[in-house]
Amino acid sequence: MSNRTINFLRIAMSLLMLLSVCLLLWQHFGMTRVLRIDANTPYQVRVIDDRAQGGASIGVLTQTDDALLLDCELKKSKYEWPFCEVSFELSKTAEGIDLSDFDRVVFDMKLNGPDFKKVRVYLRNFEPELSKLNEPLALKVNELELALPSGKPFSVPLKYFRVASWWVEEKNVPIFSTDMRLNNVTQIEVATPGVVEMGRHQIEIRSIEFHGKWISLTQLLFGIVAAWLVFCFVWLVMELLAYRARFNLKRAQMSELETINRVLEIQAEVLSNKVLLDPLTGALNREGLRDFLLQQWQGEMPTSAGMSVLFVDLDHFKRVNDNYGHAVGDEVLKQFALLVKGEIRKSDGLVRWGGEEFLVVCPATELPEAAKLAEKLRASIANAVWPSHIVVTCSCGVATREEGEEFSSLIKRADDALYQAKHAGRNRVELG
Ligand code: GH3
Ligand code: MG
Ligand code: MG
Repeated sequence: MSNRTINFLRIAMSLLMLLSVCLLLWQHFGMTRVLRIDANTPYQVRVIDDRAQGGASIGVLTQTDDALLLDCELKKSKYEWPFCEVSFELSKTAEGIDLSDFDRVVFDMKLNGPDFKKVRVYLRNFEPELSKLNEPLALKVNELELALPSGKPFSVPLKYFRVASWWVEEKNVPIFSTDMRLNNVTQIEVATPGVVEMGRHQIEIRSIEFHGKWISLTQLLFGIVAAWLVFCFVWLVMELLAYRARFNLKRAQMSELETINRVLEIQAEVLSNKVLLDPLTGALNREGLRDFLLQQWQGEMPTSAGMSVLFVDLDHFKRVNDNYGHAVGDEVLKQFALLVKGEIRKSDGLVRWGGEEFLVVCPATELPEAAKLAEKLRASIANAVWPSHIVVTCSCGVATREEGEEFSSLIKRADDALYQAKHAGRNRVELG
């Protein structure tokens, strides 16, 4: 990965870390969401008493600037459970308010009356499988009966609400629908408690506030974990891409190195050939001969088999130079080498010993065979067509290596034989 990418990822990681901490702190200390119900509430407010059930209690609702006041005369009657209540209608349809994301409710209320310390609060949830529009009793009753300290707001976690057992009983609700749900509250009711003395009671409602967080801790943690997972995934992908790029680069470098290596090998081969070969004729030079002999004596050749040397010298070559020029002389030398190479075996070595003198070194070749080869070479040279129709001949001395003989001595014997050939009239082969 490039330094720029790494820096970018580091900055992104730092920002993400900072953002995670800030969001967690904000969620803990702020991010507050409040739903307030008070005297100025836009929802419809009405008073309900037990007269509809055949009771005799009378509830009257008055509204001041900062409070709603329920004035209730609770009377004993043939109805068993006398009550008065204030009802806030949050919705007239089946779509209520989702209070499940709130976690507590704060009551600012004042209670007045004989032995009147408690109040009942109902959060009525519309649930399609149970509830019907225009049938208020079919709304699920989530109930909380609580004593309120006088004069100051009182906060209660919403989890303390319970589905009213009398409602479950009355509606014969199946067990799987008896859990507390606040996801679709259409009505809130504040009522006199279940067990209460008869007489005049007052409930002054200043406010009911539902407090919660815009984002719950679980949702936030889920979001933060998801963001970190995405970040790690992006990092991983970038690492993989960088790894692939590095791998491809290495591979390209390797193949480039291999190419360079091959070129160098070829160059080295050319150079070593240059060192070992005579530039004019392409025959081995003396260094090349040394190399050739080393290869032979490195066990490639059976020691019992003899090695023969043909010492070949062009006859009267000085005259060629004198009569036709040095360049033609060079050309003759080149053609001579070509011709000889064409006649000898691959395993034989042609060496330019100096000037117009050549050696043919024949491994594993006994004297008769070497003599035959010498004769063949001599004849070929004599019968070949040369530049400017020059007559070219050569003389040749042949010697075969004796057991344990130094190579210099072998050459010397071949040279002596050559001398005899020259002496005997040239264009002939003599055995040493
Ligand atoms: P012989 O039959 O006794 O060998 O006579 P020769 O003239 O061949 O022998 P000599 O040693 O007198 O002369 C060899 C000549 O070869 C002399 C030299 O100018 C010539 N020569 C040696 N090297 C080269 C070369 O590389 N190119 C050319 N063109 N001539 C060369
Ligand atoms: Mg000569
Ligand atoms: Mg000579």
